[in-house]
Amino acid sequence: MLVLDRACHFSADQLLATLRQSGQRVSRATIYNTLSLFSRRGLIREVAVDPERLMYDSTTAPHHHFYNAETGELTDIDPADLRLSRLPPLPRATEAESVEVIIRIRPRKGG
Ligand SMILES: [Zn+2]
Repeated sequence: MLVLDRACHFSADQLLATLRQSGQRVSRATIYNTLSLFSRRGLIREVAVDPERLMYDSTTAPHHHFYNAETGELTDIDPADLRLSRLPPLPRATEAESVEVIIRIRPRKGG
């Protein structure tokens, strides 16, 4: 399987481009429907990096990300490398299901 044979992050458009480059005829709607199904089944995870950009992650275990808004690249952060010392009080009658941190990065000015 093209998508799941290694840990990776990708957008629907990147997947579409990869499939078309390899000669497959596939519609954008098929890509979106399939990714949505995979995500509901827990085979991949959606990572909403910003309101206009949904990325998909083949690693489904909880982890954090660096997101480079300039290049669009998403990079994993090992959960052991990020420690949260305090969470805010949760709303009544709720429990924390997961905490996912996205650290937005950009190239440093002046190199
Ligand atoms: Zn990831």
